[in-house]
Amino acid sequence: MLHANENYARIKPTYLFAEIAHRVAEYQRANPSAHVIRLGIGDVTEPLAPAVIAAMHRAVDDEGGRGEFHGYGPEQGYGFLREKIAEFDFRRRGVGISAEEILVSDGAKCDCGNFQELFSEDVKIAVGDPVYPVYVDSNVMAGRRDIALLPCTAENGFVPSPAGCDADIAYLCYPNNPTGAVATAAQLQEWVDWANARGSLIIFDAAYEAFIRTPGVPHSIYECAGAKKCAVEIRSFSKTAGFTGVRCGYTVVPDGLCAYHADGTAVELRPMWTRRQTTKFNGASYITQRGAEAVYSPEGLAQTKAAVDFYLGNARIIKEALSKSGYSVTGGDDSPYLWVDVKGDSWGFFDRLLTAANVVVTPGAGFGSAGEGYIRVSAFNSRANVLEAVRRMEKAL
Ligand code: PLP
Repeated sequence: MLHANENYARIKPTYLFAEIAHRVAEYQRANPSAHVIRLGIGDVTEPLAPAVIAAMHRAVDDEGGRGEFHGYGPEQGYGFLREKIAEFDFRRRGVGISAEEILVSDGAKCDCGNFQELFSEDVKIAVGDPVYPVYVDSNVMAGRRDIALLPCTAENGFVPSPAGCDADIAYLCYPNNPTGAVATAAQLQEWVDWANARGSLIIFDAAYEAFIRTPGVPHSIYECAGAKKCAVEIRSFSKTAGFTGVRCGYTVVPDGLCAYHADGTAVELRPMWTRRQTTKFNGASYITQRGAEAVYSPEGLAQTKAAVDFYLGNARIIKEALSKSGYSVTGGDDSPYLWVDVKGDSWGFFDRLLTAANVVVTPGAGFGSAGEGYIRVSAFNSRANVLEAVRRMEKAL
């Protein structure tokens, strides 16, 4: 008998987006002429920056023999990209991270899901509730049962405190998906001090870093004193530069960051992660990495910032409209997501918006029990669709 990994039976079914799709399809069947606008998705809608496209065209020419052909590349990523990341994402913000500490991948989701492989099955995990489900599901698949859900509520500003947390690994995500909340420097420092005091690890997901505009909000966990001793940081080009379909991200694993064998022997995480990646991953493509490198060119920086500013403009429009209609809204200032307190059943509110405004949002309950009573509204859409959706929501609400 072929014995299945029974841990898969313990993962909650991913019914959220399937259920949304089902309800929207049912509604469209009954109302074929309705123009439904989707503000539920977490995918970008703007095209890639011209500087990125030009760089990728040049890379295709390289691969076609007009320049230097590249086959398998280094699994950790090409030096040309790792140097740019270290310089622009960290050193220019006063954070000392070297190119060697950066490991390029084909997106943040894989790194979020795979990094837990470096730790034993019995480590305790802590995540926020509501949560980006990858942190939980990847640990459940690996057989871990001890997963603490830290409620992120209006009372704590959607940033849980580490006080009383006895986890070995805490996943933090700021700006947050789904709440759109950001953590202050003091809040992140409290987590870093907690991790260093306990010998715990923080896995910091900064996939939405490019949306931070408020001065003083940390862009990286490494802005906190002592973070290189207790944290890895995962970043993505998906929302920064519209790479959701191109696929590129990276993880920072600082020098000297260690876990321990049962006999107390220290083992450095970067060689372990490198070993894991060289065994199971063959690198992001050369063409992709040339495109990512172009994000850091003067034109690339300006063009990708303009696209993020555009989404933030959408977020402002949605936030103003919902606030005017009397709803309490978090997020949207430093994030593409708005987390709206609907003071009641989140699926009920979803149905109401679908039928009365033909607008699709994401019910907060789908991200965890603390998400009940909220909806997530995404600012990833065209301006015309956002304006029309807002007009209809104002009327319906
Ligand atoms: N982390 C968070 C919090 C996300 O919301 C997402 C995507 O929506 C990812 C990671 C995955 O990013 P990528 O497209 O780089 O895999």
